[in-house]
Amino acid sequence: MAAKGMYLIIIPPTIQDGIKKVQLQQEVMEPENMKWQKAVILYVIGESPSIGAMERFKTSQWNFAAKPIVSYHNEGYFVILFSSIKDKNEVLYSGPHTMGAKPLILKSWSADFNLYNEVLKTIPLWASFPNLPLNCWGRLTLSRIASSLGCPIYVDECTANTAIISYARVLIEMDISKELPKCIIVQDPSGKEFEQVVEYDWVPQYCKKCLMVGHDCDGEQDRAGATRKILKGEQQQQRAEALRRVDSQLTNPWLIMGDFNAIMDIEDMVNGTTV
Ligand SMILES: [Zn+2]
Repeated sequence: MAAKGMYLIIIPPTIQDGIKKVQLQQEVMEPENMKWQKAVILYVIGESPSIGAMERFKTSQWNFAAKPIVSYHNEGYFVILFSSIKDKNEVLYSGPHTMGAKPLILKSWSADFNLYNEVLKTIPLWASFPNLPLNCWGRLTLSRIASSLGCPIYVDECTANTAIISYARVLIEMDISKELPKCIIVQDPSGKEFEQVVEYDWVPQYCKKCLMVGHDCDGEQDRAGATRKILKGEQQQQRAEALRRVDSQLTNPWLIMGDFNAIMDIEDMVNGTTV
């Protein structure tokens, strides 16, 4: 009986300088490349949603004729395969997106995609250029200005047709592990320079210690408080273990007496006041 997988065949590897190598073939891979060009990587910051939650999100958000196919990777991201490049771009070029209240990172799939090298570092961000001179709103000039920030992808509809002229808004793939520029120095053809301010719709936190998106160990508030809580937890555990040790040595029922609401630590507080 035929299984639902695929039957494979033997294709021997090549040997180069005594080293066995598998050589992939462009023409064989082309259909797969074409297929995955219609895919995006989706990562939810601060959470990895269940497949069910992702399916519900897909149904509620994307009303395309053919529903995208969702695949889950256990590093916590999804690959969403759309049925056309048009559907994919429609999702990719709108946003920023959220799922519940959590921000989403969406980016085009690429063959060398690796969660830790890629999605957590280089992501598409919407950048705005307030009061950009109108003669800079052409496709090539906008591309040139945006290229100083990263890899420009797309310009929003209002900017493209100059419907709203207070700012130009561009989607740019940027490295968030570096400080994001707040201004760009632009020199016009006559040699006159001006400083163009850059604003971002939303920038995820990036932790330079953990090399991860979604939090920042350095910027964390009240770190002392967090450390103290952990110590308290440890103390409690130690106390519970000591009690269990005492318990194992006794055969009669026993009871600890005392006021458990009493102040134990010099830093303990009553109604928000240190005592
Ligand atoms: Zn960290």
